[in-house]
Amino acid sequence: MIHAVLAYLTCPMCRKDLAAGPGQVRCPAGHTYDLARTGYLTLTTGRAAALGGDSADMVKAREAFLTAGHYATLADRLATAVHSYQGTSTGTGLPGRRLATAVHGHQSTIGGYQNNDGDARSENSGEPENSGKHAGGEPVVIDIGAGTGYYLAHLLRLSPGAVGIAVDASRYALRRAARAHPRIGAVGTDVRGPLPIRTAAASLVLDVFAPRNVTEMHRILRSDGQLVIVIPTARHLAEIVGPLGLVTVDERKSERLREKLAGFFVQQDRLTLDLELSLPPDDLLNLVMMGPTAHHRQASDVRVAIEDRWPHGASATASFAVEIHQPFPR
Ligand SMILES: [Zn+2]
Repeated sequence: MIHAVLAYLTCPMCRKDLAAGPGQVRCPAGHTYDLARTGYLTLTTGRAAALGGDSADMVKAREAFLTAGHYATLADRLATAVHSYQGTSTGTGLPGRRLATAVHGHQSTIGGYQNNDGDARSENSGEPENSGKHAGGEPVVIDIGAGTGYYLAHLLRLSPGAVGIAVDASRYALRRAARAHPRIGAVGTDVRGPLPIRTAAASLVLDVFAPRNVTEMHRILRSDGQLVIVIPTARHLAEIVGPLGLVTVDERKSERLREKLAGFFVQQDRLTLDLELSLPPDDLLNLVMMGPTAHHRQASDVRVAIEDRWPHGASATASFAVEIHQPFPR
């Protein structure tokens, strides 16, 4: 629900507060923004259609792939890492520390939970409320480049008192994010530009495989909050990258990230997670077409390549780094 997070959003034109009206929101200066029937709010200074972002086909592939549960373990580890930090004032350590173990997809259990998304966990059965709560407001988790809201929704299911803001440019992704969880407000904007979000609004900023707008992520984060970034490692999907002509991960990605964050954030911890994926041909196709390779390849060509080489599916290792950063004082 966008109204649950409206107090944390600002007018992209004049940075003033926003208030709800019928079918739209407005600022005191008279700038108005339409609320989509599907529940998300576009806050941009230009035309909403010019935002771009992931295409309908990419988002559809992403939703199908995530719904199949292949990255459920990543969502779980992300939530565990976040709770470990947000739940301790000293920020000391994560249980399990280095997580470089091969976990077999969605058949494993983590911390006693079954790893399947859309599960039966009730709002009351999750972990204790995240202690990022501050005077005058609830904990606010802001996911930059949130896509379908998959990781944010999972986190909110385990954080009964928190609200989430899913920020993305793609209207196809925003429609899904807006209904991924009742406490998510979905906001359409260019994630590379100034964010229509109040300074120090966030207890936690998430960035999962998304562009990193470091100055804005620093501005919207509270001084005692955390920035959690997930990036692929150089080993990510190594078995299929060559044969399927996937866009490769820059080996210096982690180093470049460090350079970009320098002066704004200091790294608290870094975990690696390798998942052994067992991928039927359709899931393999979705995995390829939900990512950057979709900008360069036709789905029909990729399907032919898959049927040729892996008619019964393939095994591949997804490899991620989860980094937790603390902001330097403003
Ligand atoms: Zn305004």
